[in-house]
Amino acid sequence: MTAAIEVRDLHFRYAEGTRALGGVSFAIAEGECVGLIGPNGAGKSTLLLHLNGLLPESWDGPGAVLVGGEPVDARSLFEVRRRVGLLFQDANDQLFCPTVLEDVAFGPRQLGLSEPEVRERVTAALAQAGISGFEGRAPHHLSAGEKRRVCLAGVLACGPSILVLDEPTSSLDPRGRRELKELLRRIPITKLIATHDLDLVVELCSRVVVLDGGVVVAEGPTVEVLSDEALMLRHSLERPHALRHLHPH
Ligand code: ADP
Repeated sequence: MTAAIEVRDLHFRYAEGTRALGGVSFAIAEGECVGLIGPNGAGKSTLLLHLNGLLPESWDGPGAVLVGGEPVDARSLFEVRRRVGLLFQDANDQLFCPTVLEDVAFGPRQLGLSEPEVRERVTAALAQAGISGFEGRAPHHLSAGEKRRVCLAGVLACGPSILVLDEPTSSLDPRGRRELKELLRRIPITKLIATHDLDLVVELCSRVVVLDGGVVVAEGPTVEVLSDEALMLRHSLERPHALRHLHPH
């Protein structure tokens, strides 16, 4: 079966010289929820940007990113962005309209949907993100958790088949984190979640990919990888609370 996402030997160097990815390969099957973990600077965000074709410098490189079997390049870009919904780490990078309605409607309008269809998409996406009735609110007056949900609604309103999330629970309080995890659990599409929130990974992801220094250093079933204390320490990670009972020492 064709993978939802396949990354093949991906290399990337930023213009001023930093090597962010040094030959990354992995695949995600349709319907899987995969965690992408690793210390700061590991290359997680750089990798996620590639999944939306946001770093076109790589298109001529030796590696490839495939979405539903199609290489991400200039020709496939529109379709890739329709299929892959990317939630940025910083909500302020994603919100730019005076009202929540305008913000969430932006994507569906870009897709050329009629105005009644756009409104229908917005209503459904706000409900999915747990913020029904927020249409008239100003995004920049909302709390961090609410802003994150508006961004999520904006992504969902485009009807993606793959959700790519960069640190979805960062800057949320414990209740905000819990609620967001519940929302994500109820969205039944393929997901790749880059996060430091390892409890989220244990609760939502069946498999994890560990990135460090721009390369994949481990991958496998979540409980197996996250219970490997030596591996976790080597890559500046910690065994999550939810797994502490498994090997008590
Ligand atoms: P992570 O998301 O795992 O923290 P990043 O992908 O943000 O990792 O960063 C990987 C490497 O690329 C780091 O060394 C970082 O300093 C560098 N980097 C990230 N963004 C930029 C940028 N816009 N310009 C130059 N270097 C960058």
